[in-house]
Amino acid sequence: MTAFASLQASMRECCDCAALVKCRSRVVPGDGAVPARVMFVGIAPGRFGGDITGVPFSGDRSGKLLRAMIERAGIEDAFITNLVRCNPRGEHGRNRDPLADEIANCRKHLEAEIAMVRPRIIVCLGAMAWRHIAGRDAAFDPTHAKILAHANAMLYPMYHPGYVIRGAYDAKRYMRDFRRLRTQLDRI
Ligand code: URA
Repeated sequence: MTAFASLQASMRECCDCAALVKCRSRVVPGDGAVPARVMFVGIAPGRFGGDITGVPFSGDRSGKLLRAMIERAGIEDAFITNLVRCNPRGEHGRNRDPLADEIANCRKHLEAEIAMVRPRIIVCLGAMAWRHIAGRDAAFDPTHAKILAHANAMLYPMYHPGYVIRGAYDAKRYMRDFRRLRTQLDRI
């Protein structure tokens, strides 16, 4: 087993969050190229996506959009993960946001992935990922893509694909943002 496969296997055993152990179908570790120049960090696997497929951002509309943007921007080495590796559900079985302590519990898994993938750019998909990685005081402004240093990588804010699917941000502008990311990667 490769070091990465064994990291994923150890994450699949995680039972740190009692509420998530109850509602998840499976743990969804990050997936993609290892090493990779760019890592995308979302919120948590969706109930119609990763919770079924076992792969983050796959099988649902957010996943399709994110992966189409990555492909169309010509980014060949990407790693895709989330703040939290289990699907959080609310009272009626719908997706809910992960709680602060669930995000904190899962942080060690994210850091282990960062250490193994060694990305040059960590893209935070949406304000929640940005706030938890860049810190509360860092303004989330994907239109100006202010880049911050984080360990050996740069933090890069982008909108979450779900925001585009809801119609809150134009898909053409989203594509332009991915091309800008690609230009940034090419400069490294
Ligand atoms: N799927 C994921 O893996 N993460 C999200 O944030 C949304 C959908």
